[in-house]
Amino acid sequence: MYPLRHVAAVALPVIGLLAPTSPAWAEWLSDQQTIMGTVVRVELWSDDQPAGKAAIAAVMEEMRRIDRTMSTYKQDSDVSLINRNAAQKPVTISSELFDLIARSLQMSELTGGAFDITYASAGQLYDFHRKIKPSEHALAKALPAINYHHILLDRKRSSIKFSQIGVRIDLGGIAKGHAVDRSIALLQARAIKQAIVSAGGDSRIIGDHRGRPWVVGIRDPRQEGKVVAALPLSDAAVSTSGDYERYFEANGMRYHHIINPTNGRPVNGVRSVTVLGSDSTTMDALSTSVFVMGVEKGMALVERLTNVEAVIVDANGKMYYSAGLERR
Ligand code: AMP
Ligand code: MG
Repeated sequence: MYPLRHVAAVALPVIGLLAPTSPAWAEWLSDQQTIMGTVVRVELWSDDQPAGKAAIAAVMEEMRRIDRTMSTYKQDSDVSLINRNAAQKPVTISSELFDLIARSLQMSELTGGAFDITYASAGQLYDFHRKIKPSEHALAKALPAINYHHILLDRKRSSIKFSQIGVRIDLGGIAKGHAVDRSIALLQARAIKQAIVSAGGDSRIIGDHRGRPWVVGIRDPRQEGKVVAALPLSDAAVSTSGDYERYFEANGMRYHHIINPTNGRPVNGVRSVTVLGSDSTTMDALSTSVFVMGVEKGMALVERLTNVEAVIVDANGKMYYSAGLERR
């Protein structure tokens, strides 16, 4: 298909010293689209341009598919259907959605309830675009519905039921990580060896960057375009949760999208949390959880987990590193 380049490749053994391992036509391919209300970016190393482009298109389609099924902004998504009906009767769902909700409940257990997809029972009362927050009365009324124990899963029937009315779920704290993991699996099935996939603050890297690590920057939570730390990474997942992603300010307060399940209010004390590990689903949920738990409890959880590191920026801009990163 690329005859000239092909000739160059055939000649490679002769000029092997110039490029011993990579065919002459290999290149980085990339694309960026707005999906799931955020920027999705794919960059991969490919020695077959049509196949590389097809792999990128497949990732974008996978992201759109997950958005269609899991977005609470789409009335006809599976999650919206659950929210409308699961208090009345069990709702049958796909094994993919069932497994992700089951994973969310595991993360609730792991984090002592800091991660709780029923946060949405009160979280749905905020509108960050239109700068709307709930009244004290509305918040107090919604609060009892926040509790992950209200979610009843039946694995045999692949169904979900809510134990009471008023319960709402939202997978915004874990679905992007899931979408990134699915995308990486898709690339691996296509024999892609070096790539990065990002959906907003959730990224995962396979391989490295032509023999060197990727360098992933942690942005300054208060100054867009500025970076407070740079992490060299290969074969890793990294997620950042920040209070700057979706927020508005009113009466001297920052109302943002990470909600404390115990009071239904945006969490104070932290500006951003970045966690590093091996899979994006866990890192996505964990970054949100550590944000809710705060510096002390959040970092203690990170230290308890194997192969997980974290960088936290607190409300004063002070930075905290997990022990493994301190050593590095
Ligand atoms: P992230 O983008 O990973 O920081 O996750 C933030 C998103 O997670 C929010 O936009 C909500 O959709 C969702 N969320 C907020 N608070 C919680 C919570 N306490 N537990 C689980 N998900 C949450
Ligand atoms: Mg997260």
